[in-house]
Amino acid sequence: MALIELTDLSYDYPNTCGLDQLNLQLNAGEFICLMGPNGSGKSTLLRILSGLEPATHGTYAFDGQVITTDYLADPQDRQRLHQQIGLVFQNTDVQLFNTSVVDEVAFGPRQLGLSEAEITQRVEDCLALTHSTDLRDRVPYQLSGGEKKRVALASVLALNPKVLLLDEPLNGLTIAAQQQMLTLLKTLQAAGKTIIMASHNFKQVQAVEPRFVIFNADHQIQADLTAQELAKQ
Ligand code: ADP
Ligand code: ADP
Repeated sequence: MALIELTDLSYDYPNTCGLDQLNLQLNAGEFICLMGPNGSGKSTLLRILSGLEPATHGTYAFDGQVITTDYLADPQDRQRLHQQIGLVFQNTDVQLFNTSVVDEVAFGPRQLGLSEAEITQRVEDCLALTHSTDLRDRVPYQLSGGEKKRVALASVLALNPKVLLLDEPLNGLTIAAQQQMLTLLKTLQAAGKTIIMASHNFKQVQAVEPRFVIFNADHQIQADLTAQELAKQ
């Protein structure tokens, strides 16, 4: 069974289409890159997968559970989904709101009501994994763009989700920082996470050999192919 299954899924904004009739199955452990022109629906899909929005038509099933409007309206169900599938926003300023990096990364585990020992362990592990240990006492909104991306990722990882969703995680990073981010995502995949990212940085991303799901300007899936297949086109 696929971990994520979309069936005839569409999303309409009040005056415009966001996604049109998607059919897609994503498996546990895959590294997926969503590509396509600006406005083709990549961010909208990530928001739906993360449970921020219900689909307006069709179905989204996560691990066999259909994510309906009613499901997302139930705080416990919604939290259960958020624990399993975490979104790193394109604009990290919307998700960094604590006064220190260490509190930022501890925020999610505290909400889960974990023990202090477990919280400390998770925070240290996630800071180390994202090369952010030196940033621990800094104020998140004063960090550089690349540092903010790492801390935002650490704070999502601290919930220990099965799936990581990332909206343009390479935007605004230097080439070296892009490579560091991709290496980190590849490491997380090797550790069993499913990675789903939206990116324009085709050349950089191709190095990690993801499955490419490509949208067209009409908000539909135009192609779904391996890095090798795409390289031949
Ligand atoms: P992408 O991430 O591929 O750039 P988006 O998912 O942001 O695409 O957008 C898909 C379509 O939905 C675009 O036409 C965009 O203008 C529209 N859209 C996105 N967000 C909103 C919104 N909050 N309100 C209205 N339309 C939106
Ligand atoms: P991305 O590059 O991630 O797709 P966009 O530039 O499409 O980002 O959108 C940035 C923000 O603006 C998002 O929060 C999106 O929901 C919102 N947005 C995009 N298009 C529209 C629109 N037509 N009307 C209102 N809000 C929009």
